[in-house]
Amino acid sequence: MANKVKVDDELIIGGDEFIVIAGPCAVESEEQMDMIGKFLKKLGVKIIRGGAYKPRTDPKSFQGLGVNGLRILKAIKELYGFKVVSEIMDPRDVEMAYEYIDIYQIGSRNMQNFSLLKEVGKTKKPVLLKRGMSATLEEWYNASEYIRNEGNENIILCERGIRTFEDYTRNTLDLMSVPMMKSKTGYPVIVDPSHGTGRRELIGPASKAAVAVGADGIMIEVHPQPEKALSDGLQSLSFDDFEKVLSEIRQVYNLLKEIN
Ligand code: PEP
Ligand code: MN
Repeated sequence: MANKVKVDDELIIGGDEFIVIAGPCAVESEEQMDMIGKFLKKLGVKIIRGGAYKPRTDPKSFQGLGVNGLRILKAIKELYGFKVVSEIMDPRDVEMAYEYIDIYQIGSRNMQNFSLLKEVGKTKKPVLLKRGMSATLEEWYNASEYIRNEGNENIILCERGIRTFEDYTRNTLDLMSVPMMKSKTGYPVIVDPSHGTGRRELIGPASKAAVAVGADGIMIEVHPQPEKALSDGLQSLSFDDFEKVLSEIRQVYNLLKEIN
């Protein structure tokens, strides 16, 4: 059984439409988000991403703009008519963030933050649950059950790669989780090729592969000047590169629709 997630009357995840989520790793400024918003709008992207609370490995790294980042996201959402997904790390922020965003993102590092899972489970807002970087599919499924048990079935899973012995890529993108988790849970599964590979040049190939294995969508990091990004620049696409990748993804999607 496929469990479609209705973001609103116009936008359903897990239905006929291939969902594209794009935006920077982190919300850095109003100007940055406005440039990205204008660009993505032109390409027909409906969901914008951007972290306001960043789970950084090094405490000295940029930690995100916090609630100011959420305010910027909301302003851009209203200006261009996007839906917004953004990560919440602390159960105490779930209620506050409710009015700013359309989809709660639970990050890889928080996949087993059970208090956080329960807290978003008490709302009805869609939750994008990223796979823990060393989580088995069973553990990922169990994490989703923490959300569902509180009454929220609006769950979208996101494969973002796992840690293996391979270190040419930041993570190993486990694409077989897509068909497996779709059939096991019925939830839509989207793929994050940015964190999944950590390398800009692999985002095109990984995205096309994601379409081919039946993903319901992808989430890609985009930045107007990737080399100046405050986080994850190496895996962020420039506007030109994103436009190329998006057009390839759409071609593969249409081709596969004809075959299937
Ligand atoms: C992100 O999407 O910005 C992020 C931090 O991803 P992950 O939790 O998968 O590392
Ligand atoms: Mn990132």
